[in-house]
Amino acid sequence: TTAAAAHRYVAAIDQGTTSTRAMLFDHAGTVVASEQTEHRQIFPRAGWVEHDPIEIWRNTRRVAGAVIAAGEVGPGEIAACGITNQRETTVVWDRHTGQPVYNAIVWQDTRTAELCEELAAAPDALGDPGVDRYRERTGLPLSTYFSGPKIRWILDHVDGARERAENGDLLFGTMDTWLIWNLTGGARHDGLHVTDVTNASRTLLMDLRTLAWDPDICADLGIPVAMLPQIRSSSEVIAPLTLGGTYPDVPLAGILGDQQAATFGQACLEPGEAKNTYGTGNFLLMNTGTEPVFSRHGLLTTVCYRLGDEPARYALEGSIAVTGSLVQWLRDNLGLIASAPEVETLAAAAEDNGGVYFVPAFSGLFAPRWRPDARGVIVGLTRFADKRHLSRAVLEASAYQTREVIEAMQADSGVALTTLKVDGGMVVNELLMQFQSDILAVPVVRPVVNETTALGAAYAAGLAVGFWESAQDIRDNWAEGGRWSPSMDDGERERLFAGWNRAVTHSYDLA
Ligand code: ADP
Repeated sequence: TTAAAAHRYVAAIDQGTTSTRAMLFDHAGTVVASEQTEHRQIFPRAGWVEHDPIEIWRNTRRVAGAVIAAGEVGPGEIAACGITNQRETTVVWDRHTGQPVYNAIVWQDTRTAELCEELAAAPDALGDPGVDRYRERTGLPLSTYFSGPKIRWILDHVDGARERAENGDLLFGTMDTWLIWNLTGGARHDGLHVTDVTNASRTLLMDLRTLAWDPDICADLGIPVAMLPQIRSSSEVIAPLTLGGTYPDVPLAGILGDQQAATFGQACLEPGEAKNTYGTGNFLLMNTGTEPVFSRHGLLTTVCYRLGDEPARYALEGSIAVTGSLVQWLRDNLGLIASAPEVETLAAAAEDNGGVYFVPAFSGLFAPRWRPDARGVIVGLTRFADKRHLSRAVLEASAYQTREVIEAMQADSGVALTTLKVDGGMVVNELLMQFQSDILAVPVVRPVVNETTALGAAYAAGLAVGFWESAQDIRDNWAEGGRWSPSMDDGERERLFAGWNRAVTHSYDLA
């Protein structure tokens, strides 16, 4: 097949919380070229987090063009492009001008806390009052985390927005939708207004079973259905894209929210298979197959992926708001370290945490506790504690939070974890990975290709155009790149985890 022979690569755009990347992968799933640009984190007030959608769109164009130059690819060598993105982050823009009416409201943003409380208490809303009133339909609790309340906030607070939305002049999208609309023509050429089932499942507006917008919930939240994108599968040919300059168009053929993409890229394709990503936050997803499993232990039910016309696969998810971003906070807000890797050097200089625990409840606590009233605390300080112990507490926080989520996952799924597959920006941190294995008492394994998010989006796109034949190709490409085994004794492990559990209770009732 000459066409297939000419196609050597699949491209992926990964629009993350801290940066935007473009990557090229070959048939073995190896990274051939990679470009990355960070964008500004905008903190207008305590609890508010915004991004500039125009800046992100510019960065996307730049990295997409640059990766083609860096990869020295010839015309026709790219089979397809996939896109993956930070989930829930909400953009509303004018379809006639392409201008956002407000900055993107980021998933960590908690400005809708009061709104969520009101919605939970409203007597006329669907289901019994409480944060779980939409859970049966959406798999999600009412929380500041999801897009629905963020859209509502924009409609309530931007002058004239509600009227323009009702007239059909405003569009909503998560980052996938915003970028695809721009990449396919934007305001000038009537860009495509689409999303995929995984991103849609994070809005609090989609019915998990029908995979369509739920008109009742939209009405409850006061969101006109006309502003919502069309929901597509995660793997199908969607539209031709111009990636860079005069380069010929390649088909956009895959869309996945970043955590679902990483799950796919980690080859978690069978029920019971799971991965944990350590990025800005941590996200543990377990594939549960073609039936949604509803959590009784504080996890979310979400769409894992849907390949073309095949039945959707679902996942249980434990989302942790703050892990890697605590390292950023140590760097940017305290200036205690000059770069993220320094946290490991400092932490390694102390024998242990010195009794110090850091609960990074900056956005409240997500899974499995869901405490919007929690705020960050550092406990256990003595005159002895110094920056080494604080650094250690920062890293340990990711591991303790992960253990909480894994315990919930085991309780919900009945599947006992035998190893933990990990990926993301923090897994280069040896001390953290060893501590994670110690505190879980199971081995932790990392794949050779740590860029599983971009890789998962590439797989979704490549499968749609026949560059990869089947899921077996994905399994065959997965190879172990690192492993950490538990070496802590049981008493120590439980003593530390008990200390964490005590510390967490001090973070409650602070908002
Ligand atoms: P995202 O996809 O959410 O933007 P990444 O997977 O790129 O995030 O991971 C970036 C995060 O990893 C940042 O929050 C950063 O602080 C953290 N990080 C990067 N290097 C290290 C390190 N050596 N030790 C600990 N954390 C790190």
